[in-house]
Amino acid sequence: MEIQKSRGIVLSSRSVGEADRLVRAFTREYGKRSFVFKGIRKSKKRSAAAAEPGALLDLVYYYHAERDFHIVNEFTLRGQHRGPEADLAGILYLFLMLEVVDKTTGQNDPGRPVFDLLEAALKALDETSRRGHLAVFFILHLLRIGGILPGFDSCKICGKRELERFALDWADLAPVCATCAGGRRMGRLLPRGGIEFIRTSLRTKYSSLDLDAWDDDLVLDLLFNLCLFIEGYFHTVLKSKEMVFSGIAGGKKLELQCRDGNNLWESQKI
Ligand SMILES: [Zn+2]
Repeated sequence: MEIQKSRGIVLSSRSVGEADRLVRAFTREYGKRSFVFKGIRKSKKRSAAAAEPGALLDLVYYYHAERDFHIVNEFTLRGQHRGPEADLAGILYLFLMLEVVDKTTGQNDPGRPVFDLLEAALKALDETSRRGHLAVFFILHLLRIGGILPGFDSCKICGKRELERFALDWADLAPVCATCAGGRRMGRLLPRGGIEFIRTSLRTKYSSLDLDAWDDDLVLDLLFNLCLFIEGYFHTVLKSKEMVFSGIAGGKKLELQCRDGNNLWESQKI
């Protein structure tokens, strides 16, 4: 056992026993790790908000190499998403981004670029007017850091560079032109603006994006495709995906159908 210090962002948490909280956090130094906050739910001195998703913490803890959970000794809350004051959409997007990090990273696999990206994204989430745009930007860069992003220069089948309309192949996220997409099982066709948003996002900072150039429907379509790709590639289910699309697509019915006509998912009003 040794004492370690880390800065971490809480990805998920749950209550155990009378007063403890189990937390999975992405740390700047060691990647994803799990912690126990003993007695935090009954503590008068220590804020329980520190163990909630989105909290940014400095942690001092007892590290046990052979254990899954490390016991937190001290912590300082450095920042957190607005929490209870945040609106529903803000919380749903927060949960989606945290869950995507959780489901695409391994325990104890250091990833400073992932930490920095997540820290910047949570800050931007409180400030941006277009959270869907931020979520797409964030996931694209997360996949880029993970080294699993395909090229977006041209159709992966015929090589055509001008993609007036295109689909994203859920197997590898590569773009396929409308002609080549015919008869294949992939997302519905997206307009040219979709590929432009992806290309622009990958070569600029979020704060430099002209968010109004891409409408919310298009960005939601991109987000849905990204979620489906992650679920397939990482053999996982993004639980917050359905919440996001039912909560944020709002009153509008968002029907996404795969090529063979199966209705994959249909949003519901909440
Ligand atoms: Zn093609």
